[in-house]
Amino acid sequence: MPPNDARSIALLLFSNFVTQAVGYFTVVSLVYFVVWRWGRERFARRRIASPARADRAQLRHELGNTLVVLVVGMLSVGIVLALQAAGHTRLVSGPSNPLLVLLWVVGGVLFNDAWFYFWHRLLHHPRIYRHIHAVHHRSVDVTPFSSYSFHAVEGFVLGAWIIPAAIFLPMPMAALGVLQVFGLANNVMSHLGYEFLPRWILRVPVLRWTNTATFHSLHHKVLRGNFGLHTRLWDRLFGTEVDGYEAAFIARGTEPSGPEYTSTDDSKRAE
Ligand SMILES: [Zn+2]
Ligand SMILES: [Zn+2]
Repeated sequence: MPPNDARSIALLLFSNFVTQAVGYFTVVSLVYFVVWRWGRERFARRRIASPARADRAQLRHELGNTLVVLVVGMLSVGIVLALQAAGHTRLVSGPSNPLLVLLWVVGGVLFNDAWFYFWHRLLHHPRIYRHIHAVHHRSVDVTPFSSYSFHAVEGFVLGAWIIPAAIFLPMPMAALGVLQVFGLANNVMSHLGYEFLPRWILRVPVLRWTNTATFHSLHHKVLRGNFGLHTRLWDRLFGTEVDGYEAAFIARGTEPSGPEYTSTDDSKRAE
């Protein structure tokens, strides 16, 4: 049964926050130590080239932002829980057909992909960029800890897609849970700094159009394209894909033949 009073919602929010924070730091720390520490030499050929290298100051910046974003993320969850208690959502609790859950997960990924693309482009508008999104782009050489390193406003906006989804879509709660986990996995993969996906995915029709670590690393490198979250579809549609992406994906571990990074001044790099 969904909670229907303020105290139950607050308790659920708190346990949700603890679960998210513990889960996030466990997964991301593990990935960081395996890939960046243990794998530093072993995976050298998979390391994505970058004009700058992550240092301790960057990691401290990323950890601080992550804590803020985890707290702010609870706002969206709280709004959804309050709407649900008031009977304003169409979310379906209880057991669901696994096939139905899968369909909703696919639909949710596509919806979130569009949501992210358009907000992301707006956040790159010169009048807005330096106030909010520049926080995320202080990480040029992305690390797994860059995944949730956002300004608080952006942390809310990017997670807020679940609010219209909960109000308008009869989505099983299980699908929402899967989407949260999938979203985190995609975010960590995007900010891995290493490319583990095989080159042959470029020859497989559906896989070719999915996001990769190289795709998002190029976004951090040049800022003028590759705004997508899960897929390359919106970037292809609106002509914002960074030239030379596929060459960079193939070239991993060596200097990509993709676009050159020209300035460390964020205001000049923003579009
Ligand atoms: Zn960006
Ligand atoms: Zn990023």
